[in-house]
Amino acid sequence: MQDPFGRSISYLRVSVTDRCDLRCVYCMAEDMTFLPRKEVLSIEELDRLCSAFIRMGVRKLRLTGGEPLVRREIMSLIRSLSRHLASGELDELTLTTNGTQLAKYADGLADAGVKRVNVSLDTLRPEAFKAITRWGDLDKVLEGLAAARRAGLKVKINTVALKGVNDGDVDDIVTWCGDQGFDIAFIEVMPMGDIGGERRLEQYWPLSKLRADLEQRWTLTDSAFRTGGPARYVDCAETGQRIGFITPMTHNFCESCNRVRVTCTGQLFMCLGQEDSADLRAALRTSEGDEKLEAAIREAIARKPKGHDFILDRRATNVSVSRHMSVTGG
Ligand code: SAM
Repeated sequence: MQDPFGRSISYLRVSVTDRCDLRCVYCMAEDMTFLPRKEVLSIEELDRLCSAFIRMGVRKLRLTGGEPLVRREIMSLIRSLSRHLASGELDELTLTTNGTQLAKYADGLADAGVKRVNVSLDTLRPEAFKAITRWGDLDKVLEGLAAARRAGLKVKINTVALKGVNDGDVDDIVTWCGDQGFDIAFIEVMPMGDIGGERRLEQYWPLSKLRADLEQRWTLTDSAFRTGGPARYVDCAETGQRIGFITPMTHNFCESCNRVRVTCTGQLFMCLGQEDSADLRAALRTSEGDEKLEAAIREAIARKPKGHDFILDRRATNVSVSRHMSVTGG
């Protein structure tokens, strides 16, 4: 699958639910209204959809949400999709999770052929964790991470950089990731979805500044390492770990974009930062065969935009894309 700019689309991220057991302040409003179940793709529909993309050239599949591990029957979807790993059609099946359910699922994930997971964690201070997630319990996530390690899953920690919230935590997170053998990536907060009262601008902490802060303590060297995702990496001499920076705001990484995203209602977004989408649920639900679905995917890829244009300044509102991150998934 090639888009109009010659980029090969080989990476699909699928949100399997809009629900989450946390309410991170930069991600969701506290009183989120979730979708009626009938609007959300069934496990069978998700399987059909992912399998169609894989037939069409997707080599890497990431399940996300909402929180993917709170979706009922999630393990049967993962076990079923793992047939594409076994056949060699898919290189990687992975997920992004908040880690609260990992203690329960880590072994099952490893058994199904999942090799690594991204776990979102913005602080190691229990009180701050509760404040950021509104009702999360840090111990549960740490237990989940320990289970992931025991199960042999490689872990990458994703930390959203939040000015005035976790700016004092990054050295501890880097040290801890080094001790645990986890990779780490910092992410700039993006203006996605109304989060109820909070001002994005107040939370925004450019990673150029975060990196400068890290360099006060750590020796960082630019690395050529790439995962196929948007992160740029440095090597940290003291911990021997890689540190990633995902900078949608300060550095536009669209030129090498190889990915598209599907929401839990089957809307295909060709760009995280644009509103244009294609309705794959209609194609799934109105036809038993997959021809209609494949045609809808092809048509949508043919209009993948060149890039996104997140704007976060004092003249703009604090929302540049109306949907929450939990809709399109991280
Ligand atoms: N529940 C899972 C988790 O916590 O990783 C998967 C979904 S969550 C929406 C995916 C990632 O998006 C998380 O790392 C989260 O911190 C990040 N995220 C959510 N809203 C964001 C925003 N406005 N800007 C930047 N990252 C955001």
